[in-house]
Amino acid sequence: MPPADNVMEKLGSLAKRRGFVFQSSEIYGGLGSVWDYGPLGVELKKNIKERWWRSMVHEREDIEGLDAAILMHPKVWEASGHVAGFTDPLVDCKQCKNRFRADDPRLKGPPGDPNTKCPVCGNKGTLTAPRMFNLMFKTFMGPVEEQAAVIYLRPETAQGIYVNYLNVLQSSRQKIPFGIAQIGKAFRNEITPGNFIFRTREFEQMEMQFFVKPGSDGEWFEFWRAERLKWLQGLGIRAERLRWHQHGKDELAHYAKDAYDIEYEFPFGWQEFEGIHNRTDFDLSRHQEHSGKKLEYVDTATNERFVPYVIETSAGADRTALVVMCDAYHEDDVEGEKRVVLRFRPSLAPLKAAVFPLVNKDGMPELARKLYDALRGQFNVFYDDGGSIGRRYRRQDEAGTPFGITVDGQSTQDGTVTVRDRDTLKQDRVDSGRLVDYLRDKLAG
Ligand code: ATP
Repeated sequence: MPPADNVMEKLGSLAKRRGFVFQSSEIYGGLGSVWDYGPLGVELKKNIKERWWRSMVHEREDIEGLDAAILMHPKVWEASGHVAGFTDPLVDCKQCKNRFRADDPRLKGPPGDPNTKCPVCGNKGTLTAPRMFNLMFKTFMGPVEEQAAVIYLRPETAQGIYVNYLNVLQSSRQKIPFGIAQIGKAFRNEITPGNFIFRTREFEQMEMQFFVKPGSDGEWFEFWRAERLKWLQGLGIRAERLRWHQHGKDELAHYAKDAYDIEYEFPFGWQEFEGIHNRTDFDLSRHQEHSGKKLEYVDTATNERFVPYVIETSAGADRTALVVMCDAYHEDDVEGEKRVVLRFRPSLAPLKAAVFPLVNKDGMPELARKLYDALRGQFNVFYDDGGSIGRRYRRQDEAGTPFGITVDGQSTQDGTVTVRDRDTLKQDRVDSGRLVDYLRDKLAG
């Protein structure tokens, strides 16, 4: 294989080699912009989602959790504006039939112009002028494929929260201000060249909608901006690679009063991976109008009635996982040899430790297995007895495993083992009876 010389290529091949992410349906040639998470990737994404859920739902008394269905009444998407407006301007090549976003950087010159070349087949003047294309996936509900049976795969999780606003309010007995949080799949028929898991057609969102009294929305908007940044820094992401981008008037979505993206400096440039939006009362008012069901809040203390404003924090779980992977990716020089290491924060690392017998004899494998069995009940750990110890360390460095536990000759004498730290490469000798406490201590945070 030729050497992969850009970071995204290197990360993509590492992700495949170590079992983080695979292309969907790879044996059939793959499915464009759809990815599967392998044994390590599913753990990484789960750790991110669990951390988000803990900080949003468990640690706050004013936020409730929800898991709404992906399929929703088609009127939801009329009310939300997605049927009419969830569109991207696209350009078709009449020659090779490829389709591009009108802002595709590979397009040199205005599409529709006789001198503009198609970036794939290279023909001049074959590109159509931009046309609007709806990004929602359509399908049919029930046995008959007719217009009346059309439903959509949700393009965002937020609408499931709005239509359940009253259900949650009433059943949880919350009072405004309060929020509803949800993690779930969303689908967009994106037309775009890859960038790995950055922009995919099926992805997961971690969204929280915070319902507030109109007039207090500005203050809550700032509150949630600060909270989200704090949370991201808690993932260990380098501060200098994060920045805010406030939407200008021309960028603001039709429903938004104010919006900020949190951007990360990916190897391919600064890009959004989370948004904080002041959605005003747009969504609840629209659902009230379209459903005919009152979605007002009644303040029992003052008898005031109002449709709440919504501050939304909307993050992609996959894009956040990509941020975490890009930020963790390092190439070190260890005694003249290149080492690739993913420096995940230990709490996010898919595997917390790997257990190695130094050699496969003299009682070492038996002791190592015993230790592995004891640790498995507490942490996600891995057992590896294949190849030289150096190679086993390197494999775990690429997996981002923070600790390597080696059972050596001394272990069989006095019950101690060495624990190698992935980042400092320092080795501690630890009594195997103390190993669980030792790891728990180091893994906190
Ligand atoms: P973009 O401009 O990149 O298309 P967006 O502004 O449409 O994104 P939102 O609708 O605000 O994105 O969605 C919130 C979050 O959901 C994004 O910040 C991103 O993390 C995630 N997201 C949106 N679309 C995708 C996608 N196609 N693939 C992966 N994640 C996505």
